[in-house]
Amino acid sequence: MKNGRIKPENPPPPEYAFGYRHPPRSGNEINGLGESTRRQPRHVFHSAGGPPLDWQALDDFFGLISPWSVLRHVIGNAWQLRNKDGPVNPEQREVADAAGMAIEIKERARQLGADLAGVSRITDGALYEGIQVPFKYAISIGMKMDREQMAHVPQVTAAAEVMRVYKEISRVAVRLAKQIRNMGWPARAYGNPNSTDILQIPLAVNAGFGQLGKHGSMISKEFGSNFRLAAVLTDLPMACDEPVDIGVDDLCLSCRRCVTDCPPDAIFDEKQLIRGEKRWYVDFDKCIPYFVKTNGCAICIEVCPWSVPDRGPSLSAKMLAKRGVRVGSDRAGSESG
Ligand code: SF4
Ligand code: SF4
Repeated sequence: MKNGRIKPENPPPPEYAFGYRHPPRSGNEINGLGESTRRQPRHVFHSAGGPPLDWQALDDFFGLISPWSVLRHVIGNAWQLRNKDGPVNPEQREVADAAGMAIEIKERARQLGADLAGVSRITDGALYEGIQVPFKYAISIGMKMDREQMAHVPQVTAAAEVMRVYKEISRVAVRLAKQIRNMGWPARAYGNPNSTDILQIPLAVNAGFGQLGKHGSMISKEFGSNFRLAAVLTDLPMACDEPVDIGVDDLCLSCRRCVTDCPPDAIFDEKQLIRGEKRWYVDFDKCIPYFVKTNGCAICIEVCPWSVPDRGPSLSAKMLAKRGVRVGSDRAGSESG
């Protein structure tokens, strides 16, 4: 890291990890780039035991080239996720106060090690096509990554930190789900790599964590994009949080940092039409080979100004003030990302 700014030194060249004899169907087509009708998302990468995907070979290659420093966290995570489900206590705790229960559950998540916690209703937009889950609510949890380790993007040191945090946050999700089942309510933990039923970002947006940035990742006021997500799905009655407007769009419309630092030029400078909705989007076909080659890249999320420690609150206040929004509370306004 130089002058407090992350800039990868000598990043690997943006070449394909390997050549397909028959290139797979475009991931952008699978993702619905340019489609004007709303529909649920389809799997394109990371099937976690589901049916083989068009990009399965590259997904397999991603796993095969993982160095031990990364792989040990992947294995530890997969092992603890064997307990994602479990028996439910037949004596159910009655919930008369859904708002109070939401506060209690978020506090429990924080005590278990989460840095962010929020509740939302599970919507179709957060479920992959063909997937149904027997739950009403999602508890999204976030955990920050070590910024010093992430300064090494796109090298293995950063990839190991990403997987370490996925392992830690999955542990929180598994323990929280168990606590809820002990209260007599069904609950299932979803941590990488078993989160392929659900999309974590729409749930986290609805849980009030922040907004989608131009680089296609979540941006929170607390940690920018320097954090990872997991979730617990449950029927435990809880009051839901609301999406927030922290001014992400305002900065992304004038900032190009992630666009210029992305080695394969994968980040669109303007919002794209994706399954009937205009939003920020990353060109899958350009990003993913470089992502695989570098064990997970992550350059775009670390160079983002929101990821500079402690910068988010002042950045958000500045963006909202420019737009003339009076900030009366931590969670003002509505979603725009
Ligand atoms: S992870 Fe971000 S910076 Fe890296 S290739 Fe993909 S879009 Fe570009
Ligand atoms: S680097 Fe700039 S343009 Fe990219 S997501 Fe962050 S604020 Fe938006």
